[in-house]
Amino acid sequence: MTPDRFGLYVHIPFCVRKCPYCDFNTFAVEREAVRTFLDALRRELELLRDRFAPPPFDTLFIGGGTPTVLSGSQLSDVIGWVRDTVGLQPDAEVTVEANPGSVTVKGLRAMEASGVTRVSLGVQSLSDELLQRIGRNHTVRDVLVSVEQIREAGIPSVNFDLMYGLPGQTRREWIDTLTGAIALSPDHLSCYSLIIEEGTPFADLHREGRLDLPHEDDEAWMYEETLRMCEQAGYEHYEISNFARPGHQCRHNLIYWRNDEWLGAGPGSHSSWQGQRHWNVRGLAEYAAAVRRGVLPIEGREELTADERMDDTMMLGLRLTAGVSLTAFRRRFDRDLLAVYGSTVERLRGLGLVEIEDDHLRLTPRGRLLGNRVIAELLR
Ligand code: SF4
Repeated sequence: MTPDRFGLYVHIPFCVRKCPYCDFNTFAVEREAVRTFLDALRRELELLRDRFAPPPFDTLFIGGGTPTVLSGSQLSDVIGWVRDTVGLQPDAEVTVEANPGSVTVKGLRAMEASGVTRVSLGVQSLSDELLQRIGRNHTVRDVLVSVEQIREAGIPSVNFDLMYGLPGQTRREWIDTLTGAIALSPDHLSCYSLIIEEGTPFADLHREGRLDLPHEDDEAWMYEETLRMCEQAGYEHYEISNFARPGHQCRHNLIYWRNDEWLGAGPGSHSSWQGQRHWNVRGLAEYAAAVRRGVLPIEGREELTADERMDDTMMLGLRLTAGVSLTAFRRRFDRDLLAVYGSTVERLRGLGLVEIEDDHLRLTPRGRLLGNRVIAELLR
């Protein structure tokens, strides 16, 4: 059984400088490295086409890193290569991640002309003091200017990435950021709490007790206020951390949450294709060397069993407010969801944490507050 939607993720592995909490696969931007990377990416797309023969993609997500360290015309070239080699559906959603202050109207117009439908802006906070504390190199003013520019260029959908649970952040500051963000009227909001990732400077500071993180009660309060404020402002809460105006849900991320199929290109990118996961080498030099030899730069792969794929479908799908479709589950796995997970579902139903409605199993509002803890109960 083939899934309904196919996505392509392209990883642009460059940033102007590394943020101290980030463990993404990024390198300092440097002209020669960018050229080498773009040559390799073009070739990798051809190799992906030859190996997997994917149907035209429904979504393209250009993420990073900071994709907008590339010029508008370089990004347009990347989209053109995707269209010409692996193919995009005529109504494809094409997202580019951008950092505030890293875009120009000219670059954005070039992106719009090449089919970009959505810009995801890494706003993070609307407090200059906090932005500085978390090592971002943009200001609140950059956010305001970038939003104007994106709209002027005619790009139809804008997402803001925001973070809460930041060092020294108070409840008041988060409310101010969220209020300011909503006032700018983005079409979509992603609100994630800061995660301390091993191997980052923030992890060292945290170990040394030098990171003044909000208490977990404050963080839970911030999350609950986020739900209340976003819903009151007309955003649909469609995934644990994501909110959208009607018609602006992120179709690419829905592919991940519905456990459909996607291919990744670029160093360190991951793919999930026909029951197999694989991931690329992270280093730029190894990546470029592999594609120069005419082989996909795959570092590792794993075959998933049917049970693992079912568990993944549950784990990801329950993040969605709509939940997991019982019919789609049966179509995909030829098994009844309740025959596989029935006793746990009954127990969680009894506790008021999940419900079955309109052919979907989903978390109740109470279950959503406990989120991952409830989902973990269902995994075998
Ligand atoms: S800009 Fe984004 S990807 Fe780049 S280092 Fe900062 S958080 Fe990581």
